[in-house]
Amino acid sequence: DGLDADVRKLTDKRSKVLGESYRLFYRKPVHLVRGKGQYLWDAAGDKYLDVYNNVASIGHCHPAVIDAVYQQMTQLNTHTRYLHEAILDYSEQLLATAPVEIDRAMYMCTGSEANDLAIRVARAYSGGTGIIVTQESYHGTSDLTSGVSPALGSGQPLAATTRLVLPPDRYRVDAPDLGAWFAGEIQKQIDDMAAHGIKFAGFLADSIFSSDGVLPGPKGFLKQAIDVVHKNGGIFIADEVQPGFARTGEAFWGFARHDVVPDVITTGKPMGNGIPVSGLLAKSDVLAAFSDEIPYFNTFGGNPVAMAAAQAVLKVIKEEGLQEHSRVVGAKLLAELSILKDKYECVGDVRGAGLFIGFELVKDKASKTPDKQLALDVTEMLRENHVLTSVAGPYGNVLKLRPPLAFQESDIDWLVGALDKSLAALGR
Ligand code: PMP
Repeated sequence: DGLDADVRKLTDKRSKVLGESYRLFYRKPVHLVRGKGQYLWDAAGDKYLDVYNNVASIGHCHPAVIDAVYQQMTQLNTHTRYLHEAILDYSEQLLATAPVEIDRAMYMCTGSEANDLAIRVARAYSGGTGIIVTQESYHGTSDLTSGVSPALGSGQPLAATTRLVLPPDRYRVDAPDLGAWFAGEIQKQIDDMAAHGIKFAGFLADSIFSSDGVLPGPKGFLKQAIDVVHKNGGIFIADEVQPGFARTGEAFWGFARHDVVPDVITTGKPMGNGIPVSGLLAKSDVLAAFSDEIPYFNTFGGNPVAMAAAQAVLKVIKEEGLQEHSRVVGAKLLAELSILKDKYECVGDVRGAGLFIGFELVKDKASKTPDKQLALDVTEMLRENHVLTSVAGPYGNVLKLRPPLAFQESDIDWLVGALDKSLAALGR
Protein backbone atom coordinates (compact mmCIF):
# COMPACT_ATOMS: atom_id res chain seq x y z
CA ASP A 1 0.00 0.00 0.00
CA GLY A 2 3.03 2.32 -0.22
CA LEU A 3 2.98 3.26 3.45
CA ASP A 4 6.27 3.84 5.27
CA ALA A 5 7.04 1.26 7.97
CA ASP A 6 6.69 3.93 10.66
CA VAL A 7 3.23 4.99 9.44
CA ARG A 8 2.12 1.35 8.97
CA LYS A 9 3.07 0.57 12.58
CA LEU A 10 0.94 3.43 13.92
CA THR A 11 -2.09 2.78 11.72
CA ASP A 12 -2.00 -0.92 12.69
CA LYS A 13 -1.84 -0.01 16.36
CA ARG A 14 -4.68 2.50 16.01
CA SER A 15 -6.93 -0.13 14.52
CA LYS A 16 -6.18 -2.41 17.48
CA VAL A 17 -6.57 0.00 20.40
CA LEU A 18 -8.79 2.93 19.34
CA GLY A 19 -12.53 3.12 18.86
CA GLU A 20 -13.48 2.62 15.23
CA SER A 21 -15.30 5.94 14.63
CA TYR A 22 -12.10 7.90 14.08
CA ARG A 23 -11.18 9.00 10.55
CA LEU A 24 -7.65 10.00 9.58
CA PHE A 25 -6.85 12.44 6.81
CA TYR A 26 -5.08 11.15 3.66
CA ARG A 27 -4.47 7.84 1.93
CA LYS A 28 -0.94 8.16 3.31
CA PRO A 29 -1.60 9.48 6.84
CA VAL A 30 0.80 12.13 8.14
CA HIS A 31 2.75 11.44 11.32
CA LEU A 32 3.50 14.85 12.81
CA VAL A 33 5.97 15.37 15.61
CA ARG A 34 6.58 19.12 15.78
CA GLY A 35 5.02 22.48 14.91
CA LYS A 36 6.07 26.11 14.85
CA GLY A 37 3.96 29.01 13.60
CA GLN A 38 2.37 27.94 10.30
CA TYR A 39 4.72 24.97 9.80
CA LEU A 40 4.66 21.34 10.85
CA TRP A 41 7.29 18.60 10.69
CA ASP A 42 6.78 14.85 10.34
CA ALA A 43 8.76 12.03 11.91
CA ALA A 44 11.09 11.88 8.89
CA GLY A 45 11.94 15.57 9.39
CA ASP A 46 9.97 16.84 6.36
CA LYS A 47 8.42 20.31 6.65
CA TYR A 48 4.76 21.02 5.86
CA LEU A 49 2.71 24.18 5.38
CA ASP A 50 -0.41 24.03 7.54
CA VAL A 51 -3.34 25.51 5.64
CA TYR A 52 -6.02 23.88 7.75
CA ASN A 53 -5.57 24.59 11.44
CA ASN A 54 -7.66 27.09 13.34
CA VAL A 55 -6.92 25.27 16.59
CA ALA A 56 -3.30 26.40 16.68
CA SER A 57 -4.91 29.64 15.62
CA ILE A 58 -2.15 32.13 16.44
CA GLY A 59 0.50 29.61 15.34
CA HIS A 60 1.74 26.23 16.52
CA CYS A 61 3.63 26.28 19.83
CA HIS A 62 3.30 30.02 20.29
CA PRO A 63 5.82 30.98 23.02
CA ALA A 64 3.35 33.33 24.76
CA VAL A 65 0.87 30.48 25.28
CA ILE A 66 3.56 28.01 26.34
CA ASP A 67 4.90 30.48 28.88
CA ALA A 68 1.48 31.46 30.28
CA VAL A 69 0.41 27.81 30.67
CA TYR A 70 3.73 26.80 32.19
CA GLN A 71 3.75 29.66 34.71
CA GLN A 72 0.19 28.92 35.81
CA MET A 73 0.89 25.18 36.08
CA THR A 74 3.65 25.95 38.58
CA GLN A 75 1.15 27.90 40.76
CA LEU A 76 -2.28 26.33 40.76
CA ASN A 77 -4.74 24.39 38.64
CA THR A 78 -8.02 23.26 40.13
CA HIS A 79 -11.74 23.13 39.48
CA THR A 80 -13.80 26.27 39.28
CA ARG A 81 -15.61 26.53 42.63
CA TYR A 82 -12.99 28.79 44.23
CA LEU A 83 -12.29 32.45 43.71
CA HIS A 84 -9.69 33.25 41.09
CA GLU A 85 -8.82 36.51 39.29
CA ALA A 86 -7.92 35.00 35.91
CA ILE A 87 -11.47 34.00 34.96
CA LEU A 88 -12.74 37.47 35.86
CA ASP A 89 -10.00 39.45 34.13
CA TYR A 90 -10.33 37.36 31.00
CA SER A 91 -14.13 37.62 30.98
CA GLU A 92 -13.95 41.41 31.13
CA GLN A 93 -11.56 41.49 28.20
CA LEU A 94 -13.47 38.93 26.13
CA LEU A 95 -16.84 40.60 26.72
CA ALA A 96 -15.27 43.90 25.63
CA THR A 97 -14.80 42.37 22.15
CA ALA A 98 -18.56 41.59 21.86
CA PRO A 99 -21.58 43.87 21.41
CA VAL A 100 -22.49 45.70 24.67
CA GLU A 101 -25.72 43.71 25.05
CA ILE A 102 -23.62 40.56 25.55
CA ASP A 103 -22.59 40.82 29.19
CA ARG A 104 -22.12 37.32 30.65
CA ALA A 105 -19.49 34.62 30.11
CA MET A 106 -19.42 30.90 30.92
CA TYR A 107 -16.67 28.38 30.20
CA MET A 108 -16.37 24.77 29.05
CA CYS A 109 -13.70 22.67 27.36
CA THR A 110 -15.14 22.01 23.88
CA GLY A 111 -17.29 23.68 21.26
CA SER A 112 -19.77 20.82 21.66
CA GLU A 113 -20.35 21.65 25.32
CA ALA A 114 -20.79 25.32 24.48
CA ASN A 115 -23.40 24.56 21.81
CA ASP A 116 -25.09 21.98 24.03
CA LEU A 117 -25.56 24.59 26.74
CA ALA A 118 -26.63 27.18 24.16
CA ILE A 119 -29.44 24.90 22.98
CA ARG A 120 -30.58 24.37 26.56
CA VAL A 121 -30.52 28.14 27.11
CA ALA A 122 -32.52 28.73 23.91
CA ARG A 123 -35.14 26.25 25.07
CA ALA A 124 -35.39 27.69 28.58
CA TYR A 125 -35.66 31.25 27.26
CA SER A 126 -38.14 30.61 24.43
CA GLY A 127 -40.18 27.83 25.99
CA GLY A 128 -39.80 26.06 22.65
CA THR A 129 -37.69 23.15 21.42
CA GLY A 130 -37.26 23.69 17.67
CA ILE A 131 -33.75 24.47 16.38
CA ILE A 132 -32.92 25.50 12.81
CA VAL A 133 -29.49 24.78 11.32
CA THR A 134 -28.07 24.72 7.80
CA GLN A 135 -28.09 21.61 5.64
CA GLU A 136 -24.50 20.48 6.11
CA SER A 137 -23.65 22.10 9.43
CA TYR A 138 -21.74 20.57 12.31
CA HIS A 139 -22.21 21.67 15.91
CA GLY A 140 -20.86 18.93 18.14
CA THR A 141 -20.58 15.49 19.65
CA SER A 142 -23.21 15.42 22.41
CA ASP A 143 -26.72 14.02 22.01
CA LEU A 144 -28.24 17.50 21.68
CA THR A 145 -25.58 18.85 19.32
CA SER A 146 -25.26 15.76 17.12
CA GLY A 147 -29.04 16.01 16.75
CA VAL A 148 -28.47 19.36 15.02
CA SER A 149 -25.43 18.23 13.00
CA PRO A 150 -26.50 16.94 9.56
CA ALA A 151 -22.81 16.84 8.52
CA LEU A 152 -22.54 13.59 10.53
CA GLY A 153 -24.49 11.86 7.78
CA SER A 154 -27.49 9.59 7.64
CA GLY A 155 -26.18 7.24 10.35
CA GLN A 156 -26.76 9.97 12.92
CA PRO A 157 -30.48 10.77 13.15
CA LEU A 158 -31.40 14.43 13.60
CA ALA A 159 -33.69 15.36 16.49
CA ALA A 160 -37.39 15.46 15.59
CA THR A 161 -37.31 19.12 16.60
CA THR A 162 -34.49 19.98 14.15
CA ARG A 163 -35.22 21.72 10.86
CA LEU A 164 -32.73 22.30 8.05
CA VAL A 165 -32.38 25.27 5.73
CA LEU A 166 -30.31 25.35 2.54
CA PRO A 167 -27.10 27.32 3.15
CA PRO A 168 -26.80 30.85 1.76
CA ASP A 169 -24.57 29.83 -1.13
CA ARG A 170 -24.14 32.79 -3.46
CA TYR A 171 -22.51 30.54 -6.08
CA ARG A 172 -25.37 28.03 -6.25
CA VAL A 173 -28.51 29.80 -5.07
CA ASP A 174 -30.18 31.74 -7.85
CA ALA A 175 -31.72 34.65 -5.95
CA PRO A 176 -31.27 38.35 -6.64
CA ASP A 177 -31.30 39.16 -2.91
CA LEU A 178 -29.50 36.41 -0.97
CA GLY A 179 -30.45 37.94 2.40
CA ALA A 180 -34.18 38.06 1.62
CA TRP A 181 -34.06 34.53 0.17
CA PHE A 182 -32.32 33.13 3.25
CA ALA A 183 -34.71 34.90 5.63
CA GLY A 184 -37.59 33.38 3.66
CA GLU A 185 -36.12 29.87 3.98
CA ILE A 186 -35.93 30.30 7.75
CA GLN A 187 -39.50 31.54 7.95
CA LYS A 188 -40.65 28.47 5.97
CA GLN A 189 -39.03 26.12 8.51
CA ILE A 190 -40.48 28.03 11.47
CA ASP A 191 -43.90 27.65 9.83
CA ASP A 192 -43.27 23.95 9.28
CA MET A 193 -42.41 23.54 12.97
CA ALA A 194 -45.66 25.29 13.90
CA ALA A 195 -47.60 22.96 11.58
CA HIS A 196 -46.10 20.02 13.51
CA GLY A 197 -46.79 21.48 16.95
CA ILE A 198 -43.15 22.40 17.60
CA LYS A 199 -42.44 25.79 19.13
CA PHE A 200 -39.40 27.55 17.64
CA ALA A 201 -36.46 28.06 20.03
CA GLY A 202 -33.63 29.34 17.89
CA PHE A 203 -31.37 29.47 14.87
CA LEU A 204 -27.87 28.02 15.39
CA ALA A 205 -25.34 28.98 12.73
CA ASP A 206 -21.67 29.42 12.05
CA SER A 207 -21.67 32.74 10.20
CA ILE A 208 -19.08 31.60 7.65
CA PHE A 209 -20.99 28.31 7.06
CA SER A 210 -17.76 26.37 7.15
CA SER A 211 -19.10 22.80 6.87
CA ASP A 212 -21.56 23.98 4.22
CA GLY A 213 -18.58 24.81 2.01
CA VAL A 214 -17.15 28.08 3.41
CA LEU A 215 -19.76 30.68 2.46
CA PRO A 216 -18.85 34.13 3.77
CA GLY A 217 -21.50 35.75 1.56
CA PRO A 218 -21.85 39.49 1.16
CA LYS A 219 -21.40 41.57 4.31
CA GLY A 220 -24.66 42.17 6.13
CA PHE A 221 -26.79 39.57 4.33
CA LEU A 222 -27.61 37.68 7.57
CA LYS A 223 -29.44 40.64 9.08
CA GLN A 224 -32.84 39.87 7.56
CA ALA A 225 -32.64 36.24 8.71
CA ILE A 226 -31.86 37.25 12.28
CA ASP A 227 -34.79 39.70 12.24
CA VAL A 228 -37.07 36.79 11.25
CA VAL A 229 -35.64 34.68 14.10
CA HIS A 230 -36.36 37.39 16.66
CA LYS A 231 -39.80 38.24 15.24
CA ASN A 232 -40.76 34.58 15.81
CA GLY A 233 -39.59 34.54 19.44
CA GLY A 234 -36.39 32.56 18.89
CA ILE A 235 -32.78 33.38 19.65
CA PHE A 236 -29.76 33.56 17.38
CA ILE A 237 -26.86 31.43 18.58
CA ALA A 238 -23.70 32.47 16.74
CA ASP A 239 -21.43 29.42 16.63
CA GLU A 240 -18.06 31.16 16.46
CA VAL A 241 -16.00 27.97 16.78
CA GLN A 242 -14.85 28.52 13.18
CA PRO A 243 -15.06 32.23 12.29
CA GLY A 244 -14.22 33.77 15.69
CA PHE A 245 -11.01 35.19 17.13
CA ALA A 246 -9.93 37.49 14.28
CA ARG A 247 -10.14 34.79 11.60
CA THR A 248 -12.28 36.73 9.10
CA GLY A 249 -10.05 39.80 9.26
CA GLU A 250 -12.87 42.29 9.00
CA ALA A 251 -13.94 41.78 12.61
CA PHE A 252 -12.95 39.91 15.73
CA TRP A 253 -16.18 37.84 15.53
CA GLY A 254 -17.60 36.35 12.34
CA PHE A 255 -21.16 37.58 12.95
CA ALA A 256 -19.88 41.17 13.20
CA ARG A 257 -19.48 41.22 9.40
CA HIS A 258 -23.26 41.18 9.30
CA ASP A 259 -24.03 43.96 11.75
CA VAL A 260 -26.21 41.65 13.88
CA VAL A 261 -26.27 41.11 17.64
CA PRO A 262 -26.53 37.43 18.61
CA ASP A 263 -28.31 36.44 21.81
CA VAL A 264 -25.71 33.79 22.54
CA ILE A 265 -22.17 33.35 21.18
CA THR A 266 -20.41 30.01 21.41
CA THR A 267 -16.72 29.49 20.82
CA GLY A 268 -14.00 26.88 21.18
CA LYS A 269 -11.17 25.78 18.89
CA PRO A 270 -9.10 28.96 18.47
CA MET A 271 -9.69 30.29 21.98
CA GLY A 272 -6.79 28.56 23.77
CA ASN A 273 -4.52 27.78 20.80
CA GLY A 274 -4.88 24.05 21.48
CA ILE A 275 -5.47 24.08 25.24
CA PRO A 276 -9.06 22.83 25.71
CA VAL A 277 -11.10 25.90 26.54
CA SER A 278 -14.45 26.98 25.13
CA GLY A 279 -16.98 29.59 26.05
CA LEU A 280 -20.54 30.80 25.92
CA LEU A 281 -21.22 34.53 25.94
CA ALA A 282 -24.79 35.75 26.31
CA LYS A 283 -27.17 38.53 27.09
CA SER A 284 -27.95 38.26 30.80
CA ASP A 285 -31.72 38.33 30.28
CA VAL A 286 -31.50 35.44 27.80
CA LEU A 287 -29.35 33.43 30.19
CA ALA A 288 -31.55 34.17 33.21
CA ALA A 289 -34.35 31.75 32.32
CA PHE A 290 -31.83 28.90 32.40
CA SER A 291 -29.63 30.08 35.28
CA ASP A 292 -32.57 30.73 37.62
CA GLU A 293 -33.62 27.08 37.39
CA ILE A 294 -30.55 24.96 36.71
CA PRO A 295 -27.05 25.06 38.24
CA TYR A 296 -24.12 24.68 35.87
CA PHE A 297 -20.78 23.21 36.84
CA ASN A 298 -17.99 22.32 34.47
CA THR A 299 -15.01 20.76 36.24
CA PHE A 300 -12.27 21.93 33.89
CA GLY A 301 -14.11 24.77 32.15
CA GLY A 302 -12.38 28.09 32.82
CA ASN A 303 -9.78 26.68 35.19
CA PRO A 304 -6.70 28.81 35.87
CA VAL A 305 -4.53 27.10 33.23
CA ALA A 306 -7.26 27.28 30.58
CA MET A 307 -7.72 30.97 31.36
CA ALA A 308 -3.98 31.60 31.20
CA ALA A 309 -3.91 30.12 27.70
CA ALA A 310 -6.98 32.07 26.59
CA GLN A 311 -5.61 35.28 28.03
CA ALA A 312 -2.32 34.81 26.17
CA VAL A 313 -4.17 34.18 22.89
CA LEU A 314 -6.20 37.38 23.22
CA LYS A 315 -3.08 39.38 24.05
CA VAL A 316 -1.16 38.00 21.06
CA ILE A 317 -4.06 38.73 18.67
CA LYS A 318 -3.94 42.36 19.80
CA GLU A 319 -0.17 42.79 20.10
CA GLU A 320 0.65 41.06 16.82
CA GLY A 321 -2.25 42.78 15.04
CA LEU A 322 -3.52 39.42 13.81
CA GLN A 323 -6.98 40.61 12.78
CA GLU A 324 -5.54 43.18 10.40
CA HIS A 325 -2.92 40.64 9.32
CA SER A 326 -5.68 38.16 8.50
CA ARG A 327 -7.54 40.78 6.48
CA VAL A 328 -4.49 41.90 4.48
CA VAL A 329 -2.81 38.53 3.85
CA GLY A 330 -6.21 36.85 3.31
CA ALA A 331 -7.06 39.38 0.57
CA LYS A 332 -3.69 38.79 -1.15
CA LEU A 333 -4.14 35.03 -1.00
CA LEU A 334 -7.67 35.34 -2.37
CA ALA A 335 -6.38 37.43 -5.27
CA GLU A 336 -3.71 34.84 -6.12
CA LEU A 337 -6.23 32.00 -5.94
CA SER A 338 -8.58 33.93 -8.20
CA ILE A 339 -5.89 33.85 -10.90
CA LEU A 340 -6.13 30.03 -10.78
CA LYS A 341 -9.88 30.36 -11.21
CA ASP A 342 -9.31 32.25 -14.47
CA LYS A 343 -6.70 29.72 -15.57
CA TYR A 344 -8.64 26.48 -14.97
CA GLU A 345 -12.09 25.43 -16.17
CA CYS A 346 -12.47 23.20 -13.09
CA VAL A 347 -12.24 26.03 -10.56
CA GLY A 348 -15.81 27.23 -10.18
CA ASP A 349 -15.63 29.68 -7.33
CA VAL A 350 -13.14 31.19 -4.91
CA ARG A 351 -14.48 33.09 -1.90
CA GLY A 352 -13.35 34.03 1.55
CA ALA A 353 -13.11 36.43 4.44
CA GLY A 354 -9.65 36.97 5.90
CA LEU A 355 -7.66 33.76 6.20
CA PHE A 356 -10.71 31.55 5.64
CA ILE A 357 -11.16 30.66 1.99
CA GLY A 358 -13.27 28.17 0.05
CA PHE A 359 -11.91 26.95 -3.32
CA GLU A 360 -14.65 25.12 -5.21
CA LEU A 361 -13.90 22.46 -7.83
CA VAL A 362 -16.41 21.61 -10.57
CA LYS A 363 -16.63 19.59 -13.79
CA ASP A 364 -16.92 22.83 -15.76
CA LYS A 365 -17.83 26.43 -15.11
CA ALA A 366 -21.11 26.34 -17.04
CA SER A 367 -22.68 23.30 -15.36
CA LYS A 368 -21.17 23.92 -11.88
CA THR A 369 -21.38 20.15 -11.34
CA PRO A 370 -19.40 19.44 -8.14
CA ASP A 371 -16.21 17.44 -8.67
CA LYS A 372 -15.66 15.58 -5.42
CA GLN A 373 -13.10 13.16 -6.86
CA LEU A 374 -10.95 16.01 -8.16
CA ALA A 375 -11.11 17.75 -4.77
CA LEU A 376 -9.97 14.55 -3.07
CA ASP A 377 -7.18 13.96 -5.58
CA VAL A 378 -5.99 17.57 -5.33
CA THR A 379 -5.97 17.33 -1.52
CA GLU A 380 -3.82 14.20 -1.77
CA MET A 381 -1.46 15.82 -4.26
CA LEU A 382 -1.14 18.90 -2.06
CA ARG A 383 -0.19 16.58 0.77
CA GLU A 384 2.53 15.08 -1.47
CA ASN A 385 3.75 18.66 -1.93
CA HIS A 386 3.65 19.09 1.86
CA VAL A 387 0.66 21.42 1.93
CA LEU A 388 -1.98 20.26 4.41
CA THR A 389 -5.66 21.02 3.92
CA SER A 390 -9.01 19.25 3.52
CA VAL A 391 -12.43 19.49 1.90
CA ALA A 392 -15.85 20.83 2.97
CA GLY A 393 -19.39 21.27 1.68
CA PRO A 394 -22.33 18.97 0.93
CA TYR A 395 -20.53 17.58 -2.15
CA GLY A 396 -17.05 17.47 -0.59
CA ASN A 397 -15.73 19.50 -3.52
CA VAL A 398 -14.58 22.67 -1.72
CA LEU A 399 -10.99 22.98 -0.49
CA LYS A 400 -11.08 24.58 2.93
CA LEU A 401 -8.10 26.94 3.23
CA ARG A 402 -7.81 28.11 6.82
CA PRO A 403 -4.19 28.36 7.97
CA PRO A 404 -3.01 29.45 11.41
CA LEU A 405 -3.03 33.26 11.50
CA ALA A 406 0.78 33.05 11.53
CA PHE A 407 0.51 32.37 7.76
CA GLN A 408 2.62 34.98 5.93
CA GLU A 409 2.51 36.60 2.52
CA SER A 410 5.73 34.69 1.79
CA ASP A 411 3.82 31.39 2.23
CA ILE A 412 1.40 32.22 -0.60
CA ASP A 413 3.80 30.99 -3.31
CA TRP A 414 4.14 27.55 -1.69
CA LEU A 415 0.39 27.09 -1.41
CA VAL A 416 -0.62 28.58 -4.78
CA GLY A 417 2.31 26.92 -6.55
CA ALA A 418 1.38 23.49 -5.20
CA LEU A 419 -2.26 24.05 -6.09
CA ASP A 420 -1.36 25.20 -9.60
CA LYS A 421 0.83 22.11 -10.08
CA SER A 422 -1.95 19.81 -8.80
CA LEU A 423 -4.58 21.37 -11.06
CA ALA A 424 -2.24 21.23 -14.07
CA ALA A 425 -1.77 17.49 -13.45
CA LEU A 426 -5.30 16.52 -12.44
CA GLY A 427 -7.72 19.23 -13.51
CA ARG A 428 -8.99 20.87 -16.64
N1 PMP B 1 -19.14 24.02 16.00
C1 PMP B 1 -18.44 24.09 14.86
C2 PMP B 1 -18.83 25.09 13.81
C3 PMP B 1 -17.34 23.25 14.67
O1 PMP B 1 -16.64 23.32 13.54
C4 PMP B 1 -17.00 22.31 15.69
C5 PMP B 1 -15.82 21.36 15.54
N2 PMP B 1 -15.45 21.03 14.27
C6 PMP B 1 -17.78 22.27 16.85
C7 PMP B 1 -18.83 23.15 16.97
C8 PMP B 1 -17.49 21.29 17.96
O2 PMP B 1 -16.35 21.66 18.66
P1 PMP B 1 -15.56 20.55 19.53
O3 PMP B 1 -14.96 19.57 18.57
O4 PMP B 1 -14.53 21.38 20.26
O5 PMP B 1 -16.52 19.95 20.46
